[in-house]
Amino acid sequence: MVTLNYALAKVLEYSAPLGVVEVVPLWDSVGRVLASDITSDINMPPFNKSAVDGYACKIADLNQPLSVAEVIAAGQMPKIEIKQGTCSKIMTGAPVPLGAECVIMVEEVEELQSNQIKFTGTYSKTNIALFAEDVKVGDVVLKKGVSIEPQHIAILAAVGVSNVEVSAKPKVAILVTGDELVEPNVSPTQSQIRNSNGHQLYAQIVRAGGTPIYGGIIDDTQSSTYKAIQNALNESNIVVLTGGVSMGDFDFVPKVLSDLGVEILFQTIAVQPGKPTLFGVKGNKLVFGLPGNPVSSLFQFDFLVRSAIIAMMEGSNPVRPIVKVPIAQTYKRRNADRLALVPATINGDGEALPIDYHGSAHIFALANATCVIMVPIGAQKVEKGELVDVRSI
Ligand code: AMP
Ligand code: MG
Repeated sequence: MVTLNYALAKVLEYSAPLGVVEVVPLWDSVGRVLASDITSDINMPPFNKSAVDGYACKIADLNQPLSVAEVIAAGQMPKIEIKQGTCSKIMTGAPVPLGAECVIMVEEVEELQSNQIKFTGTYSKTNIALFAEDVKVGDVVLKKGVSIEPQHIAILAAVGVSNVEVSAKPKVAILVTGDELVEPNVSPTQSQIRNSNGHQLYAQIVRAGGTPIYGGIIDDTQSSTYKAIQNALNESNIVVLTGGVSMGDFDFVPKVLSDLGVEILFQTIAVQPGKPTLFGVKGNKLVFGLPGNPVSSLFQFDFLVRSAIIAMMEGSNPVRPIVKVPIAQTYKRRNADRLALVPATINGDGEALPIDYHGSAHIFALANATCVIMVPIGAQKVEKGELVDVRSI
């Protein structure tokens, strides 16, 4: 049995970058991993820009009536230089005219007759965004490895990138084992249950940035398992199996993987739930055998397979951050020989609240889970208010 940290380190060690770059239109790049550094082709702001709607003038003139020389709309160049005793009305985003030292806000101005105004506020700042104060031509604005979020789309758009170089998505095959399983569109007989895992995995692969290849439910026979895994190894970068990796009479996965020349690097992890989790490699292909129970499968995918997918795309954050949060109620357990992953939510007081659940088959309890509390090996009790490691899922 290996620790979860060891397991993750092994997975990352073997998750070689695919090294394949694709070019996608800007709108399609959200969720993808940037494959090159992005530099700016512009200065931002491109000119001294008014940050408010108001009047551009000299600071020494703020205590006297000023005559308005022109009105400058956004998108227009000013025509008149500001001289002593004059100002120009200016809109947010418009270039500040020569000679102006500040822009006073329209809310702090009294309009006098005969095209004159007077400042009624107290001067505190210029309200001018200076030329190139945000970004200069040639600055690196985004680094290779960024997972593209909407705010990155704004940056790409601002520097003129309408086609984006992103890493190719790893292909991830899903193979579901278990003779008791039927698909969601089928009514289970007395001894059957629906395959929830396979579909959960599909969604997790999409979220992580991979391309799922759904291989369906395989019979619990050695020959079917062999054929399905052989085929999956050929057509994907990562094979994810669920079920069939523990000690049952029909758990053929480890044997078949050995027969196919997959080197098994670990087969059990000191984690609860999710102990029977297998990881193997064949060349640059990765194989994960996840437990059949959907809660275990959810967690083990999130802790290991997700990281492998991101690492293959050279994403800069393959591992989710862990934060320290006080626990909302005392947590106890009898056996502390494994790391406990406790489904939880964050309550209104900002504390991690464990969700009441019956074990790793109880997916219904997870409807409201947003995170997991990680109770370390050796800890039998965590008192209410103590800080615990919490990770989102
Ligand atoms: P196994 O790992 O094959 O021994 O399965 C462990 C438990 O998870 C058994 O109760 C299975 O019925 C259940 N299980 C296995 N695969 C799935 C699946 N795809 N969806 C839901 N439950 C599953
Ligand atoms: Mg099974």
